[in-house]
Amino acid sequence: MTLAPPAPVLTENGPADTARARTYEVRTYGCQMNVHDSERLSGSLEAAGYVRATDEQADVVVINTCAVRENADNKLYGNLGMLASVKKVHEGMQIAVGGCLAQKDKSVILEKAPWVDVVFGTHNMGALPTLLERARHNDEAQIEILESLDVFPSTLPTRRESTYSGWVSVSVGCNNTCTFCIVPALRGKEKDRRPGDVLAEVQALVDDGALEVTLLGQTVNSYGVEFGDRQAFGKLLRAAGTIDGLERIRFTSPHPAAFTDDVIDAMAETPAVMPQLHMPLQSGSDRILKAMKRSYRSEKFLGILDRVRAKIPNAAISTDIIVGFPGETEEDFQDTLRVVEAARFASAFTFQYSIRPGTPAATMADQVPKEVVQERYERLTALQDHISREENQKLVGQIVNVLVSAGEGKRDAERHRLSGRAEDSRLVHFDVPEGSETPRPGDIVTVRISEAASFHLIADAAPHEQLLIRRTRSGDAWDRAEAESCGVPAPAGVAAEPGRVSLGLPGLRIGTGPGAALPLTAVSTKRADAARTQAERTDTESTDAPQVSTTPIYDMLDGER
Ligand code: SF4
Repeated sequence: MTLAPPAPVLTENGPADTARARTYEVRTYGCQMNVHDSERLSGSLEAAGYVRATDEQADVVVINTCAVRENADNKLYGNLGMLASVKKVHEGMQIAVGGCLAQKDKSVILEKAPWVDVVFGTHNMGALPTLLERARHNDEAQIEILESLDVFPSTLPTRRESTYSGWVSVSVGCNNTCTFCIVPALRGKEKDRRPGDVLAEVQALVDDGALEVTLLGQTVNSYGVEFGDRQAFGKLLRAAGTIDGLERIRFTSPHPAAFTDDVIDAMAETPAVMPQLHMPLQSGSDRILKAMKRSYRSEKFLGILDRVRAKIPNAAISTDIIVGFPGETEEDFQDTLRVVEAARFASAFTFQYSIRPGTPAATMADQVPKEVVQERYERLTALQDHISREENQKLVGQIVNVLVSAGEGKRDAERHRLSGRAEDSRLVHFDVPEGSETPRPGDIVTVRISEAASFHLIADAAPHEQLLIRRTRSGDAWDRAEAESCGVPAPAGVAAEPGRVSLGLPGLRIGTGPGAALPLTAVSTKRADAARTQAERTDTESTDAPQVSTTPIYDMLDGER
């Protein structure tokens, strides 16, 4: 291992030493939970004085893994193989692997890729800067996997990826045992944050310029189970709705079994809660739902949708569906098609079931042949794409408010359009007519929908029409962030902001530097010992687990819907 220059120490006035700050890159696989965790990893590194790499090779590459996807390990080791040759020529480079796959595989990662410097789990993300420092100082790999949460991750510094929209975790872990899902085994039992802490983080985000917040939890609506309040989630929505300046509240993902009418009332009666619901169906067959250990049935699921639409008629409802779960017959699949037709989802994230070692479903009899799964999948997506198109077409001619986003429309530049999300979360591409001002990400534009496709809406202005723009605090925050990244003063009239790394609690500022207390049962070993030690620990740990995330984004790199 080559020794690297030390990480700079951050003070309130910036790095204390004059050496070049070490740069980092975080690569994320998996769901929104992982994307949000990566914001915390970035925040922890920046609080410790690292700076994000731009075009150059980063000194520290962090891979935040996901164990949910098929072939997650192949993908990880493929990436690590490529990084091994980069590391040979980049003096002082370090590689860290964290997240769900690291939590599951532990020492296996170092056995297969001994050039990795740090392996950490899902419960100790805040330890990353210290582990990197220790690996460098001791010239030995560090493995640290905790079996339970020590510090709620939301109290870690966070480098938010967006100035206008942010995620806030209300809980981590899950008390369910869906037979396809590995999440509970890796993230543990549900732990709920105190409502005051959640609301304080939301307030801090709004103070930093955000207009939109998405509340996150594996089963977000079971929030409160730990402190014995079954109506806690509805109350939390109402309380968040009173925060001045917060215009859009979303949440993901609720579990149908725990979906209660007080949540529907809270959604309908809180203006800031957006008319949108993402609720995983997984299967329309009651027999398969039972085999999945999903404790609701299709009738109950459809009943929830009816009640949501009765109170929020313009709600756009989306879902997750798995095709080809073990034992799924053509009749079961027809049930799924029937429920999809009845549900009229605005969109659906559809997945082909495939065996994931370590989950109960992996050893079930009657695994469905791949070609049968593929054929059913194609029928399902064809049906859902048709429904999505029909539902979207109902919006043609309607006026919608769009929160302008950055980088959501891949072909925007080519087509001279910008993109954003409507209140119901539909993706809208709109043009900026000649002579119109160009809105900034975070501003709100009001447009008329002119065309609809399955996955997006188009709002092209009529001749001589000007774009209606509301400049917002979020747009101002975007200007500040852009000015900072270019090293130029913020535009006149835009208040200076201390930095984009924020802590989960208001009133706290970065400046703690590296070496923050690590109250963890760290395992630090020489490389050769690391594998043995972890193998011994693994013997006593269960890796039996279910699998699949319930959030809309499954793999950022693959771009899978
Ligand atoms: S699918 Fe969702 S509800 Fe089921 S065990 Fe996994 S995280 Fe929990």
